[in-house]
Formats: sequence, structure tokens, C-alpha cells
Amino acid sequence: MPGVLVTCLLTALLVPAQAPKQDRVPAEGGPITITAIRHATFVLQHGSTTIYVDPVGGAGRFQGLPRPDIILITDIHGDHASPDTVRAVRKETTVIVCPLAVAERLKGIPNVRVLQNHEETVVGKVKIRAVPMYNITPSRMQFHPKGRGNGYVIELAGKRIYVSGDTEDIEEMRSLRQIDIAFVCMNLPFTMTVEAAADAVLAFKPKIVYPYHYRGRGGMSDIGKFKRIVARDPSIEVRFLAWY
Ligand code: ZN
Repeated sequence: MPGVLVTCLLTALLVPAQAPKQDRVPAEGGPITITAIRHATFVLQHGSTTIYVDPVGGAGRFQGLPRPDIILITDIHGDHASPDTVRAVRKETTVIVCPLAVAERLKGIPNVRVLQNHEETVVGKVKIRAVPMYNITPSRMQFHPKGRGNGYVIELAGKRIYVSGDTEDIEEMRSLRQIDIAFVCMNLPFTMTVEAAADAVLAFKPKIVYPYHYRGRGGMSDIGKFKRIVARDPSIEVRFLAWY
């Protein structure tokens, strides 16, 4: 229990009390609504289109939200892929986009579309490109080997949305361009430090960046520090959501 208390205390210290669960970004034909569910899990909505990213934790977490037209899954770990949650939240027409390693765990679920790194697909009005996500620090390589998982660039309502998945500050992230909205991970030992995440963000210059996936074995990462470093470039806006 002390661990839980410490975690709660850290959450209170690091996430501004006013951090909302939901945010809106103006886009073509109306705003894109972003709902933080938890850690790596979130929902994007635009008009009648609903996208779940890494849905885990059961259907209860998505109460009040429409069922997804698209589910995107980045990797095999329990904080990203949950076959039971996919079964519970999907509807008949839901298209599930994921890498091969995840698809192998979704046997029996229809409409699974495998995308490997650099491949793309279109679902309705949404274009989805799989981009690499992997560790580059020798002591972390076993967590996310190159080629297994996918980050994603989603084109929705005229906006380009980047989902990092679990990765370090790889060249493929640094060289992204014209990203309107970015979700960038930062936790140890599984992904990267806030300094590495901030440095990569300063390189690819998204208009808006949401730190997500920032709790690891070592507790909460200092997202305040991330924001202070990114502030060197006033063209990038860091936004906090209540992920925990
Ligand atoms: Zn993860």
C-alpha cells in the first residue's frame, strides 16, 4: 500500500490539478476530441468517427463513449494489447489495425488488418501509417525490439496525429514533419527519459504534444521538466491530460 500512496502523491505533485480528461483541437469539419483513458490508452473522435488507441482494462473504462470504428494497437504488452478488451468494445464493423505480433494474439476476432512498419492503410476517411518504435539503449533493447511494434501517423480531418508507442528518441521520430498533434511516451526503464523525449520533440516540432505513458517502474516521470525543456521552442505547445 505505501507504493500506492507514493504513486498518488507523485501524481498530485506532477499533474496539475486542473489537467482535464478531455481536450479538443479544431480541425476540418469540427473539432477532434481527445479523451485520455489511462497510461497509453486514449480515444479520438471526429464527427461520427471514433478511434480507440491501445484499448485495455475492460469495457468499463470506455463508458459513455461510442464504440470504435477503428482500433489501433501498438504492441503486445498488457498496457497496449488486450484481446478481451478488444472483444468487449468492438462492434461488427470495427477495423483493428495492428502489427503482426499483435494480430497473432487476436485470433478469432474479425476485421484485423496487419500493418508492418512503413505500411499504410485507409479506413473510411482515416489514413493510418505505421512507423517504427523501438529501444536503442543496450540495456533496454529487450523491451521493444525494432520491427515488432508500430507507432502510427493518423491523418484525420486534415490533421496529422502521431502516436509514439513505446520507443526511444529514434531517428524515425526525429525526422517526422508536419505533425499537428503528438502523443509521446517517457518512462523508465521501458522507453526514454523526459530529456530524450523533449530533445526529439524539439527536432520534429509538433504543434501540440501530449506527454503520455509516463509512469514506469521508477514512478512518474517529471513531465513538468519535459514541458520546461520543450518551451525553448515557443511554436510547440505542451498539453497535460489526466492519464493517471
Ligand atoms: Zn507500454
